Amino acid sequence: MNRPPRSAASSRPRLILKAGRERSLLRRHPWVFSGAIERVEAAPEAGGTLAIESREGQFLGWACYSPASQIRARVWSWEEDAPIDLALIDARIASAVRRRQRLLPTLNALRLVHGEADGLPGCVVDRYGELLVVQLLSSGAARWREAIVAALRSHTGAQQIYERSDADVLTLEGLPVEIGLLHGEAPVLPGIVDEEGLRFTVDAVHGHKTGFYLDQRDNRAQVRALADVDEVLDCFCYTGGFTASALAGGARHVTAIDASGDALALARNNIELNGLSAGRVDLVEADVFKHLRLLRDQGKAYDLIIMDPPKFAPTAATAERAARGYKDINLLAFKLLKPGGLLFTFSYSGGVSADLFQKIIAGAALDARVDARIVAHLGAGADHPVALNFPESEYLKGLCCSVD
Ligand code: SAH
Repeated sequence: MNRPPRSAASSRPRLILKAGRERSLLRRHPWVFSGAIERVEAAPEAGGTLAIESREGQFLGWACYSPASQIRARVWSWEEDAPIDLALIDARIASAVRRRQRLLPTLNALRLVHGEADGLPGCVVDRYGELLVVQLLSSGAARWREAIVAALRSHTGAQQIYERSDADVLTLEGLPVEIGLLHGEAPVLPGIVDEEGLRFTVDAVHGHKTGFYLDQRDNRAQVRALADVDEVLDCFCYTGGFTASALAGGARHVTAIDASGDALALARNNIELNGLSAGRVDLVEADVFKHLRLLRDQGKAYDLIIMDPPKFAPTAATAERAARGYKDINLLAFKLLKPGGLLFTFSYSGGVSADLFQKIIAGAALDARVDARIVAHLGAGADHPVALNFPESEYLKGLCCSVD
């Protein structure tokens, strides 16, 4: 297998791995961590291309260089004859768009590009009708901004492309925040999500991520299908995706809690936009951790509870504190469920594996003294694919539990 070093290519920018550190790359895991590096020769500037080579000189892939990050390089191409160029980016965008057309042909709001899982590390693109919202979160993705925009224009025909590169991970990459229109005329269109007859307005300029939690689409549909009940509790409701779905599914009453008054105002808009009765909803501006205790002390009980908190642990190092947070709110949720009730519970924490999350929920049920079982494993939809060579792309984990 090992090719000898190629003298013709000896002057190209290259990253040479320590002995034996090529194993994950041979399995096509695209990240090169700083600790695996022997040396970098003819280093390009941030975002520039270099060849990844084993100590023995075997070519492993073409990567974009992130000199400020612990993830020092991300591989974009595994073929030596397919360097990172305009044609490669155009082809990657085209196949990402084609995959969604094949899998989700009727949706007008969906993730079009999901980073590494679509072969474009650090590049996220969400579609809201005629508006595309782009996040370029790695040095490589930022370096290829214009090529990505050109390819998106030619393969989607979108009227507006807006950049929202303002996620926390930019600091780790040493990249500046970039926000603004990349294509089209100001002001930015309101994004409209249309999910099986339910409509949501999306604030792409101020909202979280790119404005909406597209990754919860399938789970909203599940909640809707099971919401023909008296009392629903939606914790961390944000702009009301689950609340509106529960109302559309027949819920007689929903209590929706979020710490952000702005999010609750948008939730109210979304409920009204769908002609759903705001009279059936209590929107509560409160800290979920505290408010659940209040509901418990008031003796409240619910048929269906949604627990969709923000990311508690971005990395494995913070997993323990996150575990305590998940246990606390889920324990309270189990106590607040009526017999026969359902808990939809989620974790976005990269540092908490699906296994660990399930153990935390098991511990919460045990301490709440309820007999609970998992009736469904939940995750993001087909527009958030998980590359088999990159399990990190499965960041949203969820369980639906029923109690006796
Ligand atoms: N379930 C939502 C997404 C949740 S995002 C959806 O499907 O659209 C996380 C939300 O939690 C944010 O709206 C944020 O304002 C809220 N939040 C964060 N910490 C909180 C806390 N301690 N108590 C209540 N809300 C909180």
